[in-house]
Amino acid sequence: MRDLYNFIDSQHVPARSGQWLDDRAPATDAVIARIARSGAEDVNDAVAAAKRAAPAWARTSTAERADLCDAIADVLDKRLDDLADLESRDAGKTITQARTIDIPRAVRNFRFFAGAVRHDETGCHEMSDALNYTLRRPIGVVGLITPWNLPLYLLTWKAAPALATGNTVVCKPSELTPMTASALAEIIREAGAPPGVFNLVHGLGGEAGQALVEHPDVRAISFTGGTATGARVGAAAGSRYKKLSLELGGKNSTLVFADADFEMAVAGAVRAGFTNTGQVCLCGSRVLVERSIAKRFTEAFVARVAALRMGDPSDPTTEVGALISSAHREKVERYVSLARAEGGTIACGGTRPDLGARFANGNFLAPIVVTGLASTARTATEEIFGPVVTVHEFDTDDEAVTMANGVDYGLAASVWTTNLKRAHHVAAALEVGMVWVNDWLKRDLRVPFGGIKASGVGREGGRHSLEFFSELKNVCIAL
Ligand code: NAP
Repeated sequence: MRDLYNFIDSQHVPARSGQWLDDRAPATDAVIARIARSGAEDVNDAVAAAKRAAPAWARTSTAERADLCDAIADVLDKRLDDLADLESRDAGKTITQARTIDIPRAVRNFRFFAGAVRHDETGCHEMSDALNYTLRRPIGVVGLITPWNLPLYLLTWKAAPALATGNTVVCKPSELTPMTASALAEIIREAGAPPGVFNLVHGLGGEAGQALVEHPDVRAISFTGGTATGARVGAAAGSRYKKLSLELGGKNSTLVFADADFEMAVAGAVRAGFTNTGQVCLCGSRVLVERSIAKRFTEAFVARVAALRMGDPSDPTTEVGALISSAHREKVERYVSLARAEGGTIACGGTRPDLGARFANGNFLAPIVVTGLASTARTATEEIFGPVVTVHEFDTDDEAVTMANGVDYGLAASVWTTNLKRAHHVAAALEVGMVWVNDWLKRDLRVPFGGIKASGVGREGGRHSLEFFSELKNVCIAL
């Protein structure tokens, strides 16, 4: 049991109200920490510290900031096992995922943006009688708001480019997973960041988060979270002329064609559906399969899903951990009931497993596959964000694309085929920001990451993050 304070001006401080929130372990429901329940006054303190630190930080050289990012990556890497353990306990995710995906990616985020600013270039445009050159300048104080599903992974995906481009930061992580954000604050101090450059405010979205979005001295908001919250954040930030990046929800299709490598497609669909207990914005929560192979594919898929090992997240052989909270498990269960009411068949899962006394209060739910639903059913079109995959059949490429595009979201898709022409044609026709062909979640940090429609506004990654976290200024010199 530990107390997690806000981190302002390199000091650990409680909320001014003196109030706390409980942080529970999803696998046991035990309270593992208390976090500061911050409000507008605490956000004011954090923004003031960030504002004081901003001019000196903006004057540092690119090389100094890149070196700091590398130093942070070094400490993250050194503490990988501890951080993976914290993340696994706090988020209920498997220790294997935390060790192989979440924390290594946090290390890579800082290393990547250290390299990105070292190699950054801005433009020069010659005219016959003038020369234009473009300067990249920090924005000032930026606000970072992140969700609970990939806590350190997503916080560092924003903090690294924000710091590397010379901004000072105030972040508000999800109150459900505060542990590694507090650890990151310590690590950034240990790596040598001056006071005020990185600040952290814990608390609820409607209190601390909203105050951060509305604060007049916060000039940009980078938000990752749900679509409904994104709309509120967008309205508050947009009306105050802030730069805004919104990475929101998804309802992503896994399209399996009859010419796919069958084994690869089954394994890929399982991984896309159930990684992080289905709690990744990119999860393939609807499988669209060509009718001629649908029966064989569905049987193999269901068998593989039913065999996934659910249990103690700290056991390296566990494949499926707990859902983030009891409220979230109840939401997923309501969708299972809805699937039945909509005429679907629960081919596997949907029950609360018996994992022994230690995990009796944990938020576990056996992974679910639903068949027999229309692709337009609510279960098949609304984001559930849990271990639920619906399976639908199609006859033609056009029908598959129409089904995939028939949702409000537009984040990602994966296409499983050995026909190159089909892969290009289908990838081009899908209304999403990202398509994988014969893979899922393969990430090159240079490529644009983000969605269209209800999945967000803007792109992160590589130069897109550098563009977001900076202002370009053109200087035109008459010759
Ligand atoms: P959420 O409820 O929207 O919360 C996201 C963050 O926003 C949390 O820190 C939350 O704080 C805060 N927040 C809530 N209300 C706020 C307000 N009025 N003003 C400012 N901040 C506010 O989302 P979540 O349940 O944590 O995460 C799941 C969602 O994130 C899913 O929809 C998923 O698809 C999406 N997601 C998208 C991506 C992507 O890259 N596109 C990546 C990961 C997740 P509290 O936790 O205290 O409420």
